[in-house]
Amino acid sequence: MNTLNQQYEEKVRPCIDLIDSLRSLGVEKDLALPAIAVIGDQSSGKSSVLEALSGVALPRGSGIVTRCPLELKMKRRREGEEWYGKISYQDHEEEIEDPADVDRMIREAQVKLAGVGVGISDDLISLEIASPNVPDLTLIDLPGITRVAVKGQPENIGEQIKRLIQKFITKQETISLVVVPSNVDIATTEALKMAQEVDPNGDRTLGILTKPDLVDKGTEESVVEIVHNEVIHLKKGYMIVRCRGQKEITERVSLTEATEREKAFFNDHLHFNTLYNDGHAGIPKLAEKLTLELVLHIERSLPRLEEQIEEKLAQTQAELDRYGCGPPADAAERVFFLIDKVTAFTHDAISLTTGEELKCGDKFNVFSILRKEFGKWNAQLDHSGHNSACVLSGQDLQQQLE
Ligand code: GDP
Ligand code: MG
Repeated sequence: MNTLNQQYEEKVRPCIDLIDSLRSLGVEKDLALPAIAVIGDQSSGKSSVLEALSGVALPRGSGIVTRCPLELKMKRRREGEEWYGKISYQDHEEEIEDPADVDRMIREAQVKLAGVGVGISDDLISLEIASPNVPDLTLIDLPGITRVAVKGQPENIGEQIKRLIQKFITKQETISLVVVPSNVDIATTEALKMAQEVDPNGDRTLGILTKPDLVDKGTEESVVEIVHNEVIHLKKGYMIVRCRGQKEITERVSLTEATEREKAFFNDHLHFNTLYNDGHAGIPKLAEKLTLELVLHIERSLPRLEEQIEEKLAQTQAELDRYGCGPPADAAERVFFLIDKVTAFTHDAISLTTGEELKCGDKFNVFSILRKEFGKWNAQLDHSGHNSACVLSGQDLQQQLE
C-alpha cells in the first residue's frame, strides 16, 4: 500500500510530527490542534476503514465497540524497517510487541477508562503505529452514533455519544470524515446531519461511502452521482471504498488480500470503475487524499496556532513574573537566597506583631485591610450603637487607628 510518493515525505512528515508532538505535550488542553475525526452511525464501516488504513485489526463486533475516542497516529517507515506500536492513555504507556495484540489492548484500555460493559468516556486512548505499510496520518475514531440504548446502557447514551462527537467536530481545526454505507440514503444519516450543523458549507467535511458491494442493483448511478459531488455538495468531496465484509473476516482474509480484492472489485465494476479511474475510489487513494488534506489543513492552521501559543505564553510569563525569581542554580548562592528569605520572613513576622507594614506580599498589608474592616465596623456601630452608651464609638476607633 505504498501510496505516497517519496517526495511527499519531506513535506508531510514534519507537519504531522509537529502537531503530534504538540498534542503529546498536552497543548490540546488549551488550544485546538488540527485533526481528522471519523464519525458515522454504528456499523457504517468506520473501524473497517481505519483498519484498512492502518493495517492492524481494531476492536469490532456488534453493538458499541468504540467506547472512547481513539487517536490513531500512523507513521510511515522506510521499506524493511520493523513494525512498531505503542498505546498510551492517562498515565499509562506501553509498547506493543505484536500487531495482533492491538485489539485486546484497546479493549483493556476502554475498560479502565469507561468501565466494564457498555458505557463511554471522553478520555482519549492514543495508539501509535509505525510501519512501512501505513500512511503518515493521524485520525481520531469516535463511538458510533446510536439512537436506542441497549441493556445496561444509560437511557441517554445516544445524547452522550452525540455530545462527545460534537466536542471534536465543532472545532474549526477538525476535518470530519463522515462514513456512510453506499446502500443507505446519505441525506438521512445522523452523521452527515451532525457534520452539516457545525460546518454548513461543507468546508471541512469529507464523505466516505462504504460497502459498495451491497448497493441495490439499479441504484448504482445514484451512488456515482453522490461521489461526483452532485447530490449533497461538500467542498472536500467524496471517496468510495470497499472493505472486508463479515464473511471475509470470518474467513480470515488478510488486509493485504482485502486491498487486492478491493482493486479487482472496482476494476471489474460496470458502474464504479470510472470512479476508480478518476481517483475517487479505493483505500490507497483515500490514504493519499487524507494525508494531503491533513497537511494542507495543518499549514493553514499554523499561523493561528502560533498566535494562540504566543498569547498563552505571554499570559503564563506574566503569571510567572508575579512569583518573582526562583532559587539560583549555584549551591553557595542558594544558601544566601535561603537566608534572605528566612530573614525577610522573620522581619515580617515581627512587623506583624507590632502592626507595621509588611515588606513582601501586597495581600498582607494589614493596615489597609484593617482600616477597611474598621470602616465597616464604624458604620455598623453608628447605625446600631446609639443605645449602648458604654461602647466606644466607631469614630473614635477610626481616629485612633489613623
Ligand atoms: P463501525 O461500527 O462503523 O465501526 O463498522 P464496522 O467497521 O465494524 O463494520 C460493520 C460491518 O460492516 C462489519 O461486519 C464489516 O465487515 C462490514 N463491512 C464494512 N465495510 C464493508 C464493505 O465495504 N463491504 C461489505 N460487504 N461489508 C463491509
Ligand atoms: Mg467501530
